[in-house]
Amino acid sequence: MKITDHIKNFAGATQFTFEILPPLKGQSINALYNVIDELMEFNPPFIDVTYHREEHLYKDAGNGLLEMKVIKKRPGTVGICAAIQGKYKIDAIPHILCGGFSKEDTENFLIDLDFLEIDNVVALRGDALKNETYFKATPDGHNYANELVGQITDLNNGIYLDEELQNSHSTDFCIGVSGYPEKHMEAPSMESDIHFLKKKVAAGAEYVVTQMFFDNQKYFDFVKQVRKEGIKVPIIPGLKPLSTLKQLNMIPHRFHVDLPEALVKEVIKCKDNKAVKQVGIEWCIAQSKELKESQVPFLHYYSMSKSDNIKAIGREVF
Ligand code: FAD
Repeated sequence: MKITDHIKNFAGATQFTFEILPPLKGQSINALYNVIDELMEFNPPFIDVTYHREEHLYKDAGNGLLEMKVIKKRPGTVGICAAIQGKYKIDAIPHILCGGFSKEDTENFLIDLDFLEIDNVVALRGDALKNETYFKATPDGHNYANELVGQITDLNNGIYLDEELQNSHSTDFCIGVSGYPEKHMEAPSMESDIHFLKKKVAAGAEYVVTQMFFDNQKYFDFVKQVRKEGIKVPIIPGLKPLSTLKQLNMIPHRFHVDLPEALVKEVIKCKDNKAVKQVGIEWCIAQSKELKESQVPFLHYYSMSKSDNIKAIGREVF
């Protein structure tokens, strides 16, 4: 079922949803099933599955030179989505990127999803590769998520890359995109970031999922500003509970989001990561309860494929 239809069925009761990562190459899907099994008591209408593009690794070739290897550490997004839909009979939403995909790769990826009866996709640009300073599109790929959304919308209208194809099947994907309550790190201003968010919606995006935030006011202000710019699609809040001391620096550095001073103070007082995890759970419960009161259709948790803290939050909130 499309996310927009799940939202139409929303009768004022916020639903629990979450995101998982494909396992590292070499691991089985069973660990992921254990995570999902633990969270099924909250009846998630859908689960998002992230996509991880290739990485360029340099290995010692043994002759004084370095050899470059291109590897994907977490393959399997599409297979996991198909497996989840088959096993749990709920929607699985693959993320799809501009990075690492030519337009032809994108088209073929979408054809697989359509054959597997996957109705939803989250369309993203992706980050720069670790050895690049700025994001670089793959040859004949897309530079920005709005272009990717445009290609998916074309396919929904039966327009394939090969213009000579006749009577082509129209796909029917519901397209989600990202939004940044604290603006995307590369955007010169919030206004500019929202201007490009509007382009994604104009290209066919039907809902937005936000980057994690730790201060609900940032989400409420973002929604207000986005609505002022005429963007009407649902904006699903994404939440991540803090779980380690290291994240105090890692989260602002990697995701360009602020941590409220009150949260930082509580975390600094903690003796170990077990205590940090508890602080993270309590903070996230408070955030969740306030967002639920404001009648968001979903609370979307970034689980990092771990269930214990998300389960503790779910039990207090749902
Ligand atoms: P875009 O919307 O393309 O925006 C990128 C930047 O360019 C922004 O600063 C924007 O303001 C600007 N911009 C946008 N369009 C234009 C334009 N036409 N012209 C000029 N400037 C423009 N990454 C993964 O690798 N895998 C995942 O599964 C994944 N899932 C995510 C899920 C969510 C909910 C979120 C919030 C992020 C996710 N990411 C994922 C991270 C995401 O790929 C990065 O944040 C990336 O840097 C930006 O992607 P985007 O789709 O937001 O980019």
